[in-house]
Amino acid sequence: MPLLLLFLAACDPADDAAAPDTVADDTAAGVPSGALDPALFLAEGLAADIRTEACTLSGGTTTTCYRIEVHSLPTEHDVGPFCPRSVTDDARVTGIWIEDGAVFDASGAFIEGLATFYDDDNWQLYDESTGAVNVTASYEACEAAARPDVDPAYQNYCVECSTDYLDAGTTSTYLLPVTPVPLASPAEIDRMGVVGLALNGVDFDPPAPVEAILANYTIAAFDDCGGHVNLHAGYHYHAATGCPTEVAQSDAHAPLIGYALDGYGLYAMLDTAGTEPSDLDACRGHADATRGYHYHVASPGENMFIGCFHGEQGEREGGEGPPP
Ligand SMILES: [Zn+2]
Ligand SMILES: [Zn+2]
Repeated sequence: MPLLLLFLAACDPADDAAAPDTVADDTAAGVPSGALDPALFLAEGLAADIRTEACTLSGGTTTTCYRIEVHSLPTEHDVGPFCPRSVTDDARVTGIWIEDGAVFDASGAFIEGLATFYDDDNWQLYDESTGAVNVTASYEACEAAARPDVDPAYQNYCVECSTDYLDAGTTSTYLLPVTPVPLASPAEIDRMGVVGLALNGVDFDPPAPVEAILANYTIAAFDDCGGHVNLHAGYHYHAATGCPTEVAQSDAHAPLIGYALDGYGLYAMLDTAGTEPSDLDACRGHADATRGYHYHVASPGENMFIGCFHGEQGEREGGEGPPP
């Protein structure tokens, strides 16, 4: 039985203050229940059993990390669709785009209206006579367009890559600290790195390089789950839209959706009453008696999950490369 379920069974949900004392698990004595629980990762997303090993964190601390090998492919929700094929395709058969804090359906009508949306007549992602949308529908096109230095031949394309292009044997390995180590001052998010890991084994990535994408008159559409595919990182998320596995909390707190690279918990933005915490720090974190320090991810339109790292980061081995 996962630790959280034990906790749920033992805890009076109305009494948060007593919660840490009710955690009587052998591995969690004195540690808030928010500590990383390996049992919460979906077995289908793992390439190997999670084990512990010695590691050195970003701040130089030598400690123990969980070694988590993942497939980086969701098993509990579909991948795609991303781009429309025609300007008549509606939101049911397309994904999303984000701009200025808001989420837009990447529908055919949206593609048709890009010149107006971005107030730039150079946008022309479709054939005016047939209504066909320019989509990167091959491995070569994906490789040329799904990178910050877009091949000029693929300007004015809706960019999507298929998971079929990925090597089936590809896995990524994460080392996440068993006990997070707070920093004296927060660390910036590395745009070439990774923010964290969903419970299904998929990356939460740094902000998509939207400036470079738009400068090339491309739209790197996300699916409705806020993810898309590149050849280096595989499928990865840029927005939390509620698709991947969540673990409900015994109180009204937002559900757990994964863990950040520093080992602290990543929770949804809103609690069960639909309210965002009012006391988040610059990293979008705060602490409570039940979970200790943890993050609440940003709204899906913000092109970010958290603002910075509160603790020393573990690392991701493999899967390197730019995250467009
Ligand atoms: Zn919280
Ligand atoms: Zn991306």
